[in-house]
Amino acid sequence: MPRDPYEVLGVEREASEQQIKKAFRQLARELHPDVNAHDPDAEAKFKEAAEAYEILCDEERRATYDRYGHDGLRSGGWAPNFDSFGSISDLFNAFFGGASAGRAGPAQGGDIAVRVEIDLIEAAHGAKLPVAFEAIERCERCHGNGAEPGTPIETCGRCGGAGQLQAMTRTPFGQMVRTMVCDACHGDGRVPKQPCGECRGRGRVAGKRELEVDVPAGIDDGQRIRVSGHGHAGEAGAPAGDLYVLVGVREDERFVREGDDLITALDVAAPVAALGATLEIPTLEGSASIDLPSGTQPGEVLTLRGQGMPALRRGRRGDLRVVVNVVVPRRLSTEQRELMERLNDSLTEENLRSQESMFAKLRRALGSQAA
Ligand SMILES: [Zn+2]
Ligand SMILES: [Zn+2]
Repeated sequence: MPRDPYEVLGVEREASEQQIKKAFRQLARELHPDVNAHDPDAEAKFKEAAEAYEILCDEERRATYDRYGHDGLRSGGWAPNFDSFGSISDLFNAFFGGASAGRAGPAQGGDIAVRVEIDLIEAAHGAKLPVAFEAIERCERCHGNGAEPGTPIETCGRCGGAGQLQAMTRTPFGQMVRTMVCDACHGDGRVPKQPCGECRGRGRVAGKRELEVDVPAGIDDGQRIRVSGHGHAGEAGAPAGDLYVLVGVREDERFVREGDDLITALDVAAPVAALGATLEIPTLEGSASIDLPSGTQPGEVLTLRGQGMPALRRGRRGDLRVVVNVVVPRRLSTEQRELMERLNDSLTEENLRSQESMFAKLRRALGSQAA
């Protein structure tokens, strides 16, 4: 049983046509198989999203679904009809238009996605990273034209040299005459009489490639960098696709990242918190010293302005927030116990009075650093 199309697109049942279109567009971009090659389910998810969109973008179909569900649509004779599109990128192009939709000539190369992992320090300072990946390259034996060197190239018999074929397809926007790239000559209009022995006439071969990629300072986990023109080679004369570098930032046990801010915890023995001290803390640039005022309370936050992560494509840096974790001494010796008892006996109301309200204390105890 197919899923609820509203659920698939993540929209409310009252969603407007615009909202539905927007939701599908966004989903489709995420799932586009050229970009999402690392997710084996992307194609199935894309088809599901396209089917949901096809139901919801048509007023009559949507009303039928709202009243009778999927069964109502099926008994009304409707069925998703995506098989006639051939490939998933053809489907994508039919919805949104794309580089190869309706365009004669050799197809552009596909996009490639690769993953890299960096640590937080590299993310803070930016890095040049060598990235290795497999890509389709132009065949050197035939220089990309697909013909065995020295043999002739002839007009394509399938498309008569036009490089394209016409087909009728049904889309949510009605019947469309779609122009497809000829599958015999791949849009070139000409085919080699004797295919190249190296690439079997395709003009392209798979190869390994290495590239140095600039990772900008401030990049966050899960962001991606587009390197234009470094994807798969296009068919003869067509541009190459793009390379997408998906960046993973490893966790750093000293810092928690919150946007451009970094948070670190500083363990301080209770007597030190009471007396005040100058202490060492880790920063992205090594260690720095920080003045802990006397009477610092558990959970208090000391902020070092501009010691956080650089903001991506903006000048200023975030802050480093130091959360003071007051450690109460355990397992006291007899002598320590006596000292503690004497200290405790000497404490007056004045030592324990705080300016904070009960609510402020609770907020701080519950971890809200804004308090
Ligand atoms: Zn070749
Ligand atoms: Zn052809």
